[in-house]
Amino acid sequence: MGPNFDLHIASAAILAVLFLFAVFGYRLRHSKRFGITIALFSLVSAAVILGIIRASVVAATGLDQQTVPLRMAAVVIQCVASFLLFIYTLLLCRGDQAFRLERVLIGCIPLVVSVGASIALFFVDPSVYSSRSQTCCDKPLYLTVHLCMAFYPVVCVAFAVLYRKALDRLAIVAVSFASAAVLVGIAVELALGGLHPITFGMTIAVLALFVMVDNPLENVDSLTFAYDAAAFKHYVSDLMERRRRFSVVIVTLQHLAMLNALVGAAVADRAIRQVAQQSMRIGRTRRVYRVRDSTFAFTVFSRRECQRVVNELSEYFSHPQTLGFSSVDLDVAVTFAADLDAFNSAEQVVQYADFLTDRLQPGVTIPSDQHALVQEFSRWREIRRYLVHAVENNLVSTYVQPLFMLSRNRFSSFEVLSRLVHPALGRIPADEFIEAAESEGLIAALGRSQLESVCRFASEHARELRQRGIDSVKVNLSPIELMEVGFADNALATMRAWGVEPSLFQFEITETTATRYGEEVSNTIQVLRDAGARICMDDFGSGFANLDSLLTLPFTVVKLDKTLLDNATEDHAAEVLYCSVVQMMKAQGVETVAEGVETAEQDEFVRKLGIDEAQGYFYARPMPIEELLGTIQPIE
Ligand code: C2E
Ligand code: CA
Ligand code: CA
Repeated sequence: MGPNFDLHIASAAILAVLFLFAVFGYRLRHSKRFGITIALFSLVSAAVILGIIRASVVAATGLDQQTVPLRMAAVVIQCVASFLLFIYTLLLCRGDQAFRLERVLIGCIPLVVSVGASIALFFVDPSVYSSRSQTCCDKPLYLTVHLCMAFYPVVCVAFAVLYRKALDRLAIVAVSFASAAVLVGIAVELALGGLHPITFGMTIAVLALFVMVDNPLENVDSLTFAYDAAAFKHYVSDLMERRRRFSVVIVTLQHLAMLNALVGAAVADRAIRQVAQQSMRIGRTRRVYRVRDSTFAFTVFSRRECQRVVNELSEYFSHPQTLGFSSVDLDVAVTFAADLDAFNSAEQVVQYADFLTDRLQPGVTIPSDQHALVQEFSRWREIRRYLVHAVENNLVSTYVQPLFMLSRNRFSSFEVLSRLVHPALGRIPADEFIEAAESEGLIAALGRSQLESVCRFASEHARELRQRGIDSVKVNLSPIELMEVGFADNALATMRAWGVEPSLFQFEITETTATRYGEEVSNTIQVLRDAGARICMDDFGSGFANLDSLLTLPFTVVKLDKTLLDNATEDHAAEVLYCSVVQMMKAQGVETVAEGVETAEQDEFVRKLGIDEAQGYFYARPMPIEELLGTIQPIE
């Protein structure tokens, strides 16, 4: 059968393996790049198949002449494949920008010439297609076909070198390798005449591109065999481009960390897999995407189907699940995102899915009013968008709320609070935009500029503050700031730059932060304390902190949360609790602050307990920092 036949069989084997990979992974890839790889792949497969048929016919009949049309068709296909390699490289290097009509038309010239020459050869000298000798290399048309075909891989290598900065390393290697394989094929064919190794070269080229640049399996999650978040984005943007109407079903396994701690990582993994598998089974689709650690999403195309899937999944997970040896009640929440017409990018849909996931309650929640949710989401997005602008342009204002020293009957300090006013949405509650700032990575910048304005204020009005008996400033710290490398040093440097003593400051850390990040934050806390600043535990009693672990932290002030006080003035047991917490703190030598004092009754209550400072609307509301000195009168 000869070496041609062997080459074709080898090519077929390689392409068959690639084909299996493509079948497994094809559906999730909607990029143009992948489309072109598949086109290249199909063309080369066609050339290989023609080659195999031709070789078999020759082997069976011994008549090469009869296979001339087959060989010609294979050569034409090779010319087109060589051109596609070029388009692929163009796309890698320049993206969609490369596809200006005139450029593509100019790029087509060698293709047109080579295809024309291949066809002309058939009429002028068909023996070339069946020749087993080297003599055909002398024929100008034959040479033209090969030179035109060689033009593309040469240009590809040039592009890969030219655009090496824009490409990742693997793409450069893949393009160079693929081009070299085609070039070697052409050179060998020109040199040996009778041998046809171009298809083999092209097969190797497809292999290189397929494996290195655009491996379709790289988007499959190995634990659950669901596709990953990147694939979800691709898929959704494709649906949107095609203007398909769809809803997204979102399935979340809640409390993963707790599950890990309770039943161990292996069982927790099984639980995740179970959620993925049931989503696939009940959703009747392989296209389930793991969009977050324990959140899966998939699309459905009708309201009825959506209802069915949500109901069945909820029903299924309302029963205990058998995972290996244990039977576990999994907290799986199922929801869906409909009304996606308002969104114009996959990015937004993914964000919305995230937004819904964050709002899922334990158990099963199905939002009934999707329209309201989408509106809430728009607000959520808008706040984030505006916040970036506000932080960049210093539009977040600094407010302060004075704290009242009960024993001396005068104000003694103030807490710094941020305020954000959106041009259309009005004032944004601090909790809301602080959370946004934390999740958008803006909190450190916000904190820095706030500390800067407070230091400037304290430095410019040092005398006025002293006259008013204000001897400390309370600044809120978010966990993210605390974990930022060099946070304490930067803060101290700012104070030094404005000539403000660190001992003026009390840094407030919430109970939840203190217990959750105990180890990580203690370093920062130590540096601040060593410089003379104090640490204040904020919102004490609002979480479920372990008292033991709280007491190991070096705080000198504790703020009792507003909810504790509200309960204490209504309920006897809560009152007893409040009193005993105050006693305990006093026994530890910790200063106490009552938060959220709104009424005279509450004021009387905290005074009787001997609490040091009180904060609340009863004494003063938060105000712009510029109004502070006008509001508080100097003490004689
Ligand atoms: P927080 O640290 O507990 O701040 C006290 C909150 O209670 C403030 O809300 C304040 O306006 C409010 N408040 C004070 N007295 C009363 C009262 O008598 N009754 C009621 N109902 N509320 C009172 P605000 O300013 O909305 O801040 C909410 C939270 O946002 C703050 O809680 C704090 O955790 C955070 N936050 C505010 N500004 C900043 C900031 O610049 N940086 C950081 N990291 N967090 C901030
Ligand atoms: Ca605070
Ligand atoms: Ca507080």
